[in-house]
Amino acid sequence: MRTQMATEAGRTTAPSEDRALVGPNLLAVLDGVTAKPETGCGHGVGWFADQLSAEILRVAHLEPAAALRQAIAQAAELHDGTCDLDHPDSPSVAVALVQITDDVLRYLVLGDATVVVDTKGELRVVSDTVTNRTAGAKPADVEHALTGEVPLPDVRRVALLTDGAARAVDLFGLFGWPQALELMTANGPDDLIRRMRAVEKEDVKAVDWPREKISDDATVVYLER
Ligand SMILES: [Zn+2]
Repeated sequence: MRTQMATEAGRTTAPSEDRALVGPNLLAVLDGVTAKPETGCGHGVGWFADQLSAEILRVAHLEPAAALRQAIAQAAELHDGTCDLDHPDSPSVAVALVQITDDVLRYLVLGDATVVVDTKGELRVVSDTVTNRTAGAKPADVEHALTGEVPLPDVRRVALLTDGAARAVDLFGLFGWPQALELMTANGPDDLIRRMRAVEKEDVKAVDWPREKISDDATVVYLER
């Protein structure tokens, strides 16, 4: 199995709030939700994404939903007593997580991150752009995650993308998911981000493709078997 990753901040003036994880049996992307002016937390979204990433790696032996629940609980304890974790805009992230065991691939998506699984040429595209649920300070958030599994021998390729990268397909329509996977197989995931940035630069006023962020933090983890 071969895993590649690519990540690029959406702006040069601010650090990326995306994170990419590649562990021995685990792949993940996290996408920090842009902070509101008031969050009840003195740490910030980037800090939270770092803490949750570290905790996810620590519990990677658990099944994805259990792992994320535990990671959220542990990350919540790292806030200071002064942070208000009941604040509705407490730092949170969209998460896509893939766990690979000897015989099965399990996935979990919480929020607008995307997992694409290619099983013998059949694509399964998993993303939740509707409910707006993300991973914050409450383990119960995981109830809203989309989960599933496929037999590992059937899996050819897997891609995990934050929404800033998935927009190459689902906003700009540069190509469909089958072509996106072919592109990444041929040129690597950084080529997907590079082509998308070129389109974003041609439409800096967001006229042709109306969008809130001209360029967003973009991250891809791509695995081929
Ligand atoms: Zn905090």
